[in-house]
Amino acid sequence: MNVLVLAGTGDGHSVAQAVRATGRVVIESVAGRTAAARRSAGDGVRVGGFGGADGLAQWLREHAIGAVVDATHPFARQMTTNAVEACARVGVPLARWVRPSWLRRPESLGWLCVPDHAAAVRAAAGHGRVLLTVGRQELAAYRALPDVIARVTEPAAGWVTPPGWELLIARGPFDRVSERDLMAERGVRVLVTKDSGGATTEAKLDAAAALGVQVVMITRPPDPEGIPRFSDHEAIARWIAEVDTGSQHERSVRPQV
Ligand code: NAP
Repeated sequence: MNVLVLAGTGDGHSVAQAVRATGRVVIESVAGRTAAARRSAGDGVRVGGFGGADGLAQWLREHAIGAVVDATHPFARQMTTNAVEACARVGVPLARWVRPSWLRRPESLGWLCVPDHAAAVRAAAGHGRVLLTVGRQELAAYRALPDVIARVTEPAAGWVTPPGWELLIARGPFDRVSERDLMAERGVRVLVTKDSGGATTEAKLDAAAALGVQVVMITRPPDPEGIPRFSDHEAIARWIAEVDTGSQHERSVRPQV
């Protein structure tokens, strides 16, 4: 059975590897926003959009895909919506890979949790220097804040850093010591981030808790309902096996025409 893994994150890649280890043919798909993602093309990895839900539905048919795992980032809402629509239309089973939320951390009770970037700007304003880790696509929403260290993996095309800001180019994983040093040495008072979950960028939350830095957390958009959700590789592998068995059974009982 051919399996499409919608990826674009470290998690997505590890999910694709786990499904590959079950012996299925896996195509890992990335949007290709970053130079690193574009370089990953080939060897089971395709790069670039499908052309909306219509394009994805057609691609699923053309490549005889038997199952789709949506392992995109929790904030990549458009791709998730397109996957739900395309899979329903073509009749391909879809599962969602879920990174555990950071809201399970005990100190989250002291965070300012907000639904979007506009609310995050309001929550962060007036509290001193901000460390902003919301991704390069969203930086423009924060221009009204005067004193910001914005950390991104690579600058967005055409981005002009406002006066009073510093653009810090760095790619995780980050450890507790370096995060603590960054916040303490640079006088960071507020951390603005989004509930991406996962371990590779979680150390900033440990550092903020240790230093008493106020966290402004943008909460996740809700996931679509009715889609099976998994957070461990073995459970995904079992789901793939069930789907595969079901589709073989369906083929064996389908009347010959
Ligand atoms: P998005 O808004 O949900 O998607 C916008 C469009 O990008 C989609 O409609 C699709 O184009 C294309 N696309 C997205 N993910 C794709 C994939 N895995 N394979 C092929 N095409 C894809 O996504 P986004 O927030 O811009 O994020 C883009 C990618 O970066 C995602 O794969 C995501 O996992 C990763 N990422 C996102 C964030 C974040 O904070 N949003 C953080 C880290 C990594 P078509 O309509 O043409 O198919």
